[in-house]
Amino acid sequence: AAVVELAGVHVSYGADPALRGIDLQIAAGEQVAVMGPSGCGKSTLLHVLAGVLVPDEGSLRVLGDDLGGLRDKDRAQLRLARMGMVFQFGDLIGELTLRENLSLPLQLLGGRPAQIRVAVEAMLERLGLGEVADRRAAQVSGGQAQRAAVGRALVHQPSLLLADEPTGALDTVAADTVMEALMETVTEQGTTLVVVTHDNRVAAHLDRLVSMRDGELVG
Ligand code: ADP
Ligand code: ADP
Repeated sequence: AAVVELAGVHVSYGADPALRGIDLQIAAGEQVAVMGPSGCGKSTLLHVLAGVLVPDEGSLRVLGDDLGGLRDKDRAQLRLARMGMVFQFGDLIGELTLRENLSLPLQLLGGRPAQIRVAVEAMLERLGLGEVADRRAAQVSGGQAQRAAVGRALVHQPSLLLADEPTGALDTVAADTVMEALMETVTEQGTTLVVVTHDNRVAAHLDRLVSMRDGELVG
């Protein structure tokens, strides 16, 4: 079954087109890299998939729902319950510990404390963060913080993970560690993955490449 089905999707910021007729299907469990030069529309495409940006034109089915037809509240709920997101940086709460950061999505989803504890400890262990789980996010290394961001995005076992330059702020060694942790977890959970990147080393981890140029898919 397709997790993502876009047909003829157009998005403009004012008069400036950012997506100019995107047709894209992504099957359940696929791991897709979206690449292309700066300004070609990669982040805009990710925002459309996340349902934070509604297209001006075209049809948009994500996780079986017509995202364009949902009310804002239902789109937000779908995002919270069934998607995870990882950004380049800054998406952990610096004042909270890594353990607290990983607990947040499950708390928002109304999990029971005992279940939350079990799921969070398992994710911290699998990401190699057990030893630093009590440190505040602001006090760990960039690589540890990004692994924790991956954990926070996956701890509720979403169907779709969206990542925007997830290793863009890291050196090569830390970037590889983060990508390995991300890919292992996603593969084990069967999560469909879309990663926006301009780093070939990141794209090499994924099994399908989608190239963009000037608001369109190419190749
Ligand atoms: P990429 O992620 O590939 O760098 P973006 O999706 O961020 O590309 O941007 C695509 C185009 O849309 C660019 O020309 C960019 O300047 C423009 N753009 C992106 N976000 C906005 C916005 N919020 N307001 C106006 N223009 C935007
Ligand atoms: P990326 O290349 O990852 O999209 P950018 O630096 O282009 O990163 O964009 C960072 C933020 O600024 C995004 O939220 C994007 O929507 C917004 N943005 C990008 N281009 C413009 C623009 N021309 N006008 C207003 N906002 C923009």
